[in-house]
Amino acid sequence: MSENLQSLSERRGPGGDLSEDSRIPKIQLFGAKSFYEIPEDRISKKNFFGKCDLEKDGTKIPFYSHVADSIYSFKTKDIYQFIAENKSNIQLQLNDSGLTGRGGAGFPFAKKLEICTAQQNKTKYVVCNAEEGDTGAFSDKYLLEEKPDLVLAGMYAAGITMGAELGVLYISDEYLGAIETVREEIRKFASHDSGFKFQVVKGGNSYITGEESALLNSLEGQRAEARVRPPYPGQEGLFKKPTLVSNVETFATVPWIIKNTGMAHAALGTSGSSGAKLVSLGNYFKTPGVHEIEFGETLEKIVYEYGGGFTEHVKGLFIGGPLGGVVPMSAVTQLNLSIESFEERGFLLGHASIVAICQSVSIIELVRDLFDLMANESCGKCFPCRLGTRAGQKIVADAINGRKIDKNSFDQLLETLQLGSLCGLGGGLPVPVRNILEHFKSEVGEYFAGGLL
Ligand code: SF4
Repeated sequence: MSENLQSLSERRGPGGDLSEDSRIPKIQLFGAKSFYEIPEDRISKKNFFGKCDLEKDGTKIPFYSHVADSIYSFKTKDIYQFIAENKSNIQLQLNDSGLTGRGGAGFPFAKKLEICTAQQNKTKYVVCNAEEGDTGAFSDKYLLEEKPDLVLAGMYAAGITMGAELGVLYISDEYLGAIETVREEIRKFASHDSGFKFQVVKGGNSYITGEESALLNSLEGQRAEARVRPPYPGQEGLFKKPTLVSNVETFATVPWIIKNTGMAHAALGTSGSSGAKLVSLGNYFKTPGVHEIEFGETLEKIVYEYGGGFTEHVKGLFIGGPLGGVVPMSAVTQLNLSIESFEERGFLLGHASIVAICQSVSIIELVRDLFDLMANESCGKCFPCRLGTRAGQKIVADAINGRKIDKNSFDQLLETLQLGSLCGLGGGLPVPVRNILEHFKSEVGEYFAGGLL
């Protein structure tokens, strides 16, 4: 046990407060409310911020691969032995691969690993962010339940390359089935005398813990709030030790890259988005499930061919979670599955879950719910987000009750959130709101004084 973990364990006293193997303290979340604490009546009325059936624990998720050599169907006789045998080749192949974080931030994975490896510290950690909190996202759940060996093998590859001895999986406590399958896989891994260990920690289903520094705070038993950076986690992460934090899908991609080479991975996709992406297609798609799709595929093909189209009349798509992009159906033919295609047109791909916005959804209520959600989930550390999300809540709620919004003031609020917020929760909120103001003018214009031009 590291000094830090040891001392925190001792401060908290033996037993009780610690998770099962005493390597990591039980997390305690303070302040942030659950993502799904939006009032039930509103969820059932709009069925928008409520869960997709496939997100629910115990639901088997259908998987479809549209890639010739599926990255996530990769199998080898003993995956951990295979990783250990290729230790000297891991960084090189990742450098060539162009693999970027699949959780939404898109940071180059090889760079993260390189930074952690370069730190002179005998204690380092690998942390898997499996607090999959976004509406309509269940690709991490699928991997944890069906491909836990790929996730662990990716973490193990990172760990032995950078010199870490402990990998921590922070898994949403709504994913009890996934927690079980991962624990079972850890037992299999333990038969290898590798010196590397894994630990599962149940997250508290708080949206902000999807943000890596808030997740680290939570793991340390502190209030789950974002940290000021620098220092970055690769320099000072968990217990101030160098820590590589990445998401489930990113880790699960690593074994295929090591086996097939980084160049083979880079040959898939586009120049700015290499490889393939797991896309969650949820409620209202005729073929819901997790779809493995090469980057660069047209959104039109994803929606109408892979997804089979819709069971309801749909007027837009919410892509990449509540802080992602709101895409009108008229733009579906203009986009492809890549970070750059979405950015060029002012949208955000995020981790690419797609939620259909049915005709019956009120767009102004959707804006209100976005502010509600982020006001509830704001950790409160920085005032632009703490106050700005609540101000937005009130402005939009008042507008629904007949008080028109002043467009200039509203723009200033969005700008303050974007530029002044400490992390992507407050800073990301203006993206979907602006998408809505631009692409759904005819629906929301009446709530603004003088309309929207
Ligand atoms: S932007 Fe919001 S969630 Fe992020 S640190 Fe500031 S208050 Fe916390």
